[in-house]
Amino acid sequence: MAEYSISQLGKFENCPLQYRLIYVDGIKREEEGVEAFLGQRFHEAMEWLYRERAFRIVPLEELLAYYEKRWAEKWHDEVKIAKKERTADDYRLMGRRFIEDYYKRHHPFDEGRVLALEKYIRFPLAEGTRYKCKGIIDRLVQASDGAFEVHDYKTGASLPEQADLDKDRQLGLYQIGVQTLWPEAKEVRLIWHMAAFDLEMRSRRTSEALEGLRKDIAGLIDRIEAEQEFAPNESTLCNWCPYWDLCPLKKHLVKLEALPENRWKDEPGVAIVDAYAEQWRKKRALETEVKAVEVELGELKDAAIAFAEKEGVQVIGGTDARLRVTGKERIVSPAKGSDEREALERELRLAGVWDEVATLDTSALEKAVTEGRWTGDLLERIKDYIRAERRYTVSLSEN
Ligand code: SF4
Repeated sequence: MAEYSISQLGKFENCPLQYRLIYVDGIKREEEGVEAFLGQRFHEAMEWLYRERAFRIVPLEELLAYYEKRWAEKWHDEVKIAKKERTADDYRLMGRRFIEDYYKRHHPFDEGRVLALEKYIRFPLAEGTRYKCKGIIDRLVQASDGAFEVHDYKTGASLPEQADLDKDRQLGLYQIGVQTLWPEAKEVRLIWHMAAFDLEMRSRRTSEALEGLRKDIAGLIDRIEAEQEFAPNESTLCNWCPYWDLCPLKKHLVKLEALPENRWKDEPGVAIVDAYAEQWRKKRALETEVKAVEVELGELKDAAIAFAEKEGVQVIGGTDARLRVTGKERIVSPAKGSDEREALERELRLAGVWDEVATLDTSALEKAVTEGRWTGDLLERIKDYIRAERRYTVSLSEN
């Protein structure tokens, strides 16, 4: 049975295709965002600081030198900086500032007894369940009042709201893990160190909240295990995704980037899109013109009706054309969704004539089947009349 970490579950929610590439196909990539690289160096510095703390207090300059050394040792060509205006040095210096701030705030690092550092934990989501979880606790501490504290370092650039942390799944799950693995942990505090803001934020979980979290995670694992399609989901996170060459939303763009500029136009995909874009723009210009003509025709129609009524005529002559104005009574039904519409439908059903005026709503039928609302007997009975068919839509976005 697979074990799931919170980041793994989050990957599935963000993009099922990226999840499949990493965790099902096992395709590894060296590429990483500079933000993640910085985060790892910060974590390493903190781990070293607290390991050494068992023997001595590392001076700030020595800690910074350790950070700089690890930064230089670990830096590689596949570290990507998504913000074009920023350099690797900007991020390195930012990490230094995070460490300096943390050091000053927490010196002499004697808040509680450190129980574990970068602790890898594996545990069932609940007793006797088939759902298995795992994670790495940055620092596990026992406070002077006996409570267990789960400390987590965050180096991200956006400050979460307290309400977000009160619902945070990662540390909530770690609390479940801690209380499973160390039953003496009756009270657990969840603590985040927001390095970019020199801020410490805290949260606690009630047993009801943990029960809700267990249910959510079990539901998500069920979804992952039932997933067949693993469709790509485009979002801003694509900027940090190292799988563009395998993603149907991005791989043609990767191919084009590799081509020399003078070879672009020869590429068959480029030729199709350029021709499509030209015709699409032409169509858009014509549609704008048609709309303006329709407005003018509408005004002239009103004028013709008014003229025909005033003059008592049905045909109006022009220089080289005639206009026939025909008036006809028609039945207007109340709008869909209105109370009147519902009342009318009720009357028709009561009178037993509903079948004479009702038609099958094929969109509603498709929705019911694809969303899995109908199963079993009904689906079995209608399945000979419906079939799955791949339909394509083509939409243009201009750069
Ligand atoms: S590029 Fe975006 S859509 Fe494609 S796999 Fe990566 S995250 Fe998913």
